[in-house]
Amino acid sequence: MKEITDKKIIVAIDGYSSSGKSTMARELASRIGYVYVDSGAMYRAVTLYALRHGMIDNKRNVDVHSLVAALPGIKISFARAGEDGVQHTLLNGEDVEHEIRDMKVSENVSPVAVIPEVRERLVSLQQEFGEDKGIVMDGRDIGTTVFPHAELKIFVNASAEERARRRLKELLAKGEDVTYEEVYANVVDRDRIDTTRAVSPLRKATDAIELDNGAMTREEQIDWLLDKFNKAIED
Ligand code: C5P
Repeated sequence: MKEITDKKIIVAIDGYSSSGKSTMARELASRIGYVYVDSGAMYRAVTLYALRHGMIDNKRNVDVHSLVAALPGIKISFARAGEDGVQHTLLNGEDVEHEIRDMKVSENVSPVAVIPEVRERLVSLQQEFGEDKGIVMDGRDIGTTVFPHAELKIFVNASAEERARRRLKELLAKGEDVTYEEVYANVVDRDRIDTTRAVSPLRKATDAIELDNGAMTREEQIDWLLDKFNKAIED
């Protein structure tokens, strides 16, 4: 019995942008007492750094040379913050959790995430986070590249329309001035870049369990996920 309860696994949750995978992953981690890592936040933090340092022009051309040279000095970490102890992303020690969710960052993150050196650095950092297992990580390539041997792999999907509606709601709640059309265009554009890039494109790992959560409530999603987790830990 002790062996079963002490066993720790890696849970990899991949999927399209705004599929609700981060919410599911965060909730699962908190219920089972695992560490949660939002790998998308790491790509967003690097993008914010590049934007702040003028390394991306308004046509989304990235100065790859300068960004790659700057990589060793870009430190990304996570810390619990605020009254509810929600995990925040830190860029060189600064809390950038809110800024990395802005439309400006969303519009520029996929061109940054195609750069092989950026991926290499972030993937190795992500692998370090998972060394002791007991981790839930969400992203695009977690089950395929970061943790190909993860004990539980989930691939989340929902229609682009549904995902854009959810994202718009979040952005409006934050006070951003955006339209449904802008958000929808960003979702479709990121899908395109994420699925067609040369290094670690977004795709379902062959051994991942697929979930279309378009018509599910948050509670239904977490129940579904807990059920899969309990089965995986028993294996
Ligand atoms: O998950 P989120 O939508 O915040 O991720 C932002 C972007 O970071 C994605 O659109 C994708 O371009 C990139 N990403 C990635 N690989 C991951 C996680 C995110 O390329 N593992």
